[in-house]
Amino acid sequence: MIDISNYEAWFITGSQHLYGPETLEEVARHSQEIAKELGTKLPINIVYKPVLTGPQEIYKLMQEANNTPNCVGLIAWMHTFSPAKMWINGLKILQKPLAHLHTQYNRDIPWDAIDMDFMNTNQSAHGDREFGFIGSRMRLSRKVIVGHWQSEDVRERLSIWSRVASAWADWQGAKFVRFGDNMRYVAVTEGDKVEAEIKFGYEVNTYGIGDLVAEVNAVTDEQIAGLVATYEQEYELGDNLKEGGEKRESLRDAARIELGMRKFLTDRNAKGFTDTFEDLHGMKQLPGIATQRLMADGYGFGGEGDWKTSALVRAMKVMGAGLPGGNSFMEDYTYHFAPGNEQVLGSHMLEICPTIAEGKVRAEIHPLGIGGKEDPVRLVFNCPAGPALNATIVDMGNRFRMIVNTVEAVAPEQDLPNLPVARVLWKVHPDMKTGLAAWILAGGAHHTGYSQNLTSEYLEDFAEMAGIEYLIIDEDTKLRTFKNELRFNEVAFKG
Ligand code: MN
Repeated sequence: MIDISNYEAWFITGSQHLYGPETLEEVARHSQEIAKELGTKLPINIVYKPVLTGPQEIYKLMQEANNTPNCVGLIAWMHTFSPAKMWINGLKILQKPLAHLHTQYNRDIPWDAIDMDFMNTNQSAHGDREFGFIGSRMRLSRKVIVGHWQSEDVRERLSIWSRVASAWADWQGAKFVRFGDNMRYVAVTEGDKVEAEIKFGYEVNTYGIGDLVAEVNAVTDEQIAGLVATYEQEYELGDNLKEGGEKRESLRDAARIELGMRKFLTDRNAKGFTDTFEDLHGMKQLPGIATQRLMADGYGFGGEGDWKTSALVRAMKVMGAGLPGGNSFMEDYTYHFAPGNEQVLGSHMLEICPTIAEGKVRAEIHPLGIGGKEDPVRLVFNCPAGPALNATIVDMGNRFRMIVNTVEAVAPEQDLPNLPVARVLWKVHPDMKTGLAAWILAGGAHHTGYSQNLTSEYLEDFAEMAGIEYLIIDEDTKLRTFKNELRFNEVAFKG
């Protein structure tokens, strides 16, 4: 469902008139070549823009970038020296993410041929410093990427930035639907929705569950039969859900819920949602398989009214669009404290996204202790071993804080035959005690976005674009340093 291939980043090159038309033509040729080459390597389109040599054209280009919906950001490079006061008014109005590519056309110094003409054209080593200064002087959020443009490393940095910029663009004006309020008394899933819309660009609004129920009740038998056939095709059904099984009607109820929810969300052009077991009036089951399949199609989700996590899961899915592996709503559920083999079991009551599954996915029905509704149908599966991470955004009252913990997912050592939900096991970085202490000291939520295909660099870039606090807990984390970072950030984000 998520396709970022229509998004574009503009490749802009700074220079000035001082060099004369010949040099500027060469600069333009080089830039065109770089933009074209990067365009073939990056997940979004790279659009070459004519070389910028004066403040009016810079200002005009920034206006155009702001007003081009598909433009997710600018990649700037100063091939020659571009006096940066020319950039002030343009950068002042720029509302799109900025990547400063600190590169040069030639990889190597042409030792035998180099002369002052060559030096005159190829001076990004100091031209980019002038641009860097004005960025810092104006306190601009941006990503600085250093290296030769043909190197794998630079492409990877740019690829990550362009995916993150796409997720940021996707958030602007995005709609997240809340079915019911936050779970009663829960603190961390609360937050300032007005501030979130100001800061992040997405809206969060509540809809009465009755409006969803009306949509669910309007689903036809024919539609239900079609979706049940899809379930049969895609999943291994528990015996009692099969044709003639005693719970077959519950599978049809689950399909009805999915069809109703899908229509409700599609009609409102929503990109994610929340629900809560405390507000299911008129619903037969807490949505399980429905939520799981909607997540797999790209919708963000947060349980118990957790709209911040719903939006974050959506953003992570956009960043990871088309990459192998998946992104899911997650909750740290229970611990394995065996010395030397400490693990976290991540899961939720029902709602783990099957994009992170490994092996067979079973559709099963089991009782659910809370919610007071009929047994919900859910997808049950394991998840593969490998590097992963958990990310959360919490509202600290005066600011939003993102916390990321890199983890190593491990294959389950046992079968867990009685656990009726999807599950994933992981080892926390840098180690169980340090990682969990840091997470708890930072106020990290019990809900997260769990990712198999994003590194912490994605989330760091995202926090930078959003202008929010970012805390990483990874293999390098030392608790004493981390505690100081928390203290220092209280000052850095004061106001
Ligand atoms: Mn939960």
